[in-house]
Amino acid sequence: MRPEILFPLFAPVTRLPGIGPRLEKLYERLAGPHVVDLLWHLPTGIIDRRFRPPVSEVKDGEIATLAVTVELHVPPPPRNNRVPYRVWVSDGTGEMSLVFFRARADYIQKMLPEAQKRLISGKVDFYQGQPQMTHPDHIVAPENEKDMPLIEAVYPLTQGLTQKQVQKAAANALAKAPVLAEWLDPAWKAKNAWPDWQEAIKAAHAPESEADLAPEAPARARLAYDELLSNQLALALVRLRMRARAGRPVKGDGRLRAKVEKVLPFALTGAQKNAIAEIDADLASNRRMLRLLQGDVGSGKTLVGLMAMLSAIESGAQAALMAPTEILARQHAAGLAPLCEAAGVTLALLTGREKGKSREAVLSRLQSGEIDILVGTHALFQEDVHFKDLAVAVVDEQHRFGVHQRMQLQSKGGAGTNVLVMTATPIPRTLTLTAYGDMDVSRLTEKPPGRQPIDTRLVSAERLHEVVEAVRRAMQSGARVYWVCRLVEESDVLDVAAAEERYGALSHTFGDKVGIVHGRMRAAEKDAVMAKFQSGEISLLVATTVIEVGVDVPEATVMVIEHAERFGLAQLHQLRGRVGRGSGKSTCLLLYHGTLGETAKARLKIMRDTEDGFIIAEEDLRLRGAGELLGTRQSGMPEFRLADITAHRELLSVAYDDARLIMETDPELEGARGEALRTLLYLFERDEAIRYLRSG
Ligand code: ADP
Ligand code: MG
Repeated sequence: MRPEILFPLFAPVTRLPGIGPRLEKLYERLAGPHVVDLLWHLPTGIIDRRFRPPVSEVKDGEIATLAVTVELHVPPPPRNNRVPYRVWVSDGTGEMSLVFFRARADYIQKMLPEAQKRLISGKVDFYQGQPQMTHPDHIVAPENEKDMPLIEAVYPLTQGLTQKQVQKAAANALAKAPVLAEWLDPAWKAKNAWPDWQEAIKAAHAPESEADLAPEAPARARLAYDELLSNQLALALVRLRMRARAGRPVKGDGRLRAKVEKVLPFALTGAQKNAIAEIDADLASNRRMLRLLQGDVGSGKTLVGLMAMLSAIESGAQAALMAPTEILARQHAAGLAPLCEAAGVTLALLTGREKGKSREAVLSRLQSGEIDILVGTHALFQEDVHFKDLAVAVVDEQHRFGVHQRMQLQSKGGAGTNVLVMTATPIPRTLTLTAYGDMDVSRLTEKPPGRQPIDTRLVSAERLHEVVEAVRRAMQSGARVYWVCRLVEESDVLDVAAAEERYGALSHTFGDKVGIVHGRMRAAEKDAVMAKFQSGEISLLVATTVIEVGVDVPEATVMVIEHAERFGLAQLHQLRGRVGRGSGKSTCLLLYHGTLGETAKARLKIMRDTEDGFIIAEEDLRLRGAGELLGTRQSGMPEFRLADITAHRELLSVAYDDARLIMETDPELEGARGEALRTLLYLFERDEAIRYLRSG
């Protein structure tokens, strides 16, 4: 249960004065549905009103606060809206006018009675050589001077909300911020000279200088640390409970693995052997395995996953392999089938497309234990899927899943299913911590031998004609080619339109050697096209980013990516990983459109200069920051409201250690600091983790 002290913060924003159902939607879009979301919506700038010149010394474009006497009102001629209402003011050194467009006369007369003194503040502009102020931000009587904010926070806005409204909402939300018991380690807090939480959130909303807006400003750093600590603590709790829950020792005897190794046309790499050894140690212990297998595209993760699953089967239990897409699940099933056959292991496929009788048959064979390995998509989560005895679950391309789904799969296994998560996203170490702090990590740092480097080039789209000719030559010498299109980020529909247009043009040139796949096709259609590409019946495949993950056609040696500048580097790296999988020499052409900015150029150059996914990810993180790198919600990466993974890198590793230490000293969060830490978890909506506490 959420502690009562936080109730006001988790009330809907409509609880704040002046926010009704209409504004509620806007605030929800801007920050979120709850009062607390407004607290996290920090200002990004300041307006400094401390400059108080005499009228004779105002400058064009400057924010100024002026003490003036109201001289004369000049309303516009009747029924003429284009002429503004002018109010002349002076201070003895000079005079200027205040300008109001489409204003209500009675309102202006009330605000600025003639012959009265007023304090006004706003931006000065010059019109026909004369100073004026259009729609002053503030007008107050001298006796109310304290109502004039000398320094004002500037918030990010959304259409329909004004700066004043958001400032007021933030102030009202701040008024609800309670004093909370301290969860920070006292020594750490003192060392940084950080304020208390309530003080910090107030200070973060009341910047007095640019320095106060910087990530390292004490108030902001503290809030960022709070958020990182809540993230790390939640992961540490999950991890501890997963471990504590009775695992089951899984001991294979190696007989199935031996059969598979015998039919493999290659030897395992050293990196694969190491990873398998680490997995075996996990499986043999009676703690449950929770391991992340990180390996660049083409590093051979699938085989490692298979070996883990075979151990389960050797010990008399079952295994599951979950993939993020239908194409990938099918490809895994097809790729593993011959190996499983050689080992006498029964493998079945379950995706959303298996329906009716065939689905029921799979389910009943699964429950009876006849099926050893079940390969599938999210369909594996469904309630009617019951294993007889699931001992090992392998999750492929994890960056598409979040912690939540990981836990769901684990619960399928009942007594301590061991989980191996395979990811091809070369996540920088810092980010690994935020998303996978609950897991142990194995890395495949070595690629299978015999791979040739991919020749990557940046090509202006103006040279499209030459690219088409190069593709023609490649096809003539038997190469298979991917041609990836993307028009606009986040728009599936437009991507498809771009791909279809390119498909039309290329078909015109290459006839029926060209195929197309995109996300809006039915799964069966996609499979059919992929099969043709695999068999060589078509040799040029136009695609949207649906081919990004996992697709394996070793004969494909050329990849063209249009609008390469619009992709994330991690994504380009994934895409490029579709070629260079066989022993042939591969080429990747990154087409860019228009002229590239400095950052865009630097990013694409990284792609040209290295194939090391980790270097690419680190560089991309450096150039763009974490938000953009793994920006989408689907990425499974936690999104931070206050912490900036690049700027607060060091805080993250302290938070990691801090969380581990807390788990050692007070694993149930029962002490005084433990109580406060529970509040912290609720404050950042890590409620899920609290369920793992005995008295959660
Ligand atoms: P990823 O890590 O991207 O999932 P895969 O598991 O799909 O990589 O492996 C990529 C390709 O490398 C596959 O064709 C696979 O058969 C092959 N492969 C895997 N291990 C080895 C190895 N030790 N030696 C040579 N080829 C290998
Ligand atoms: Mg793979």
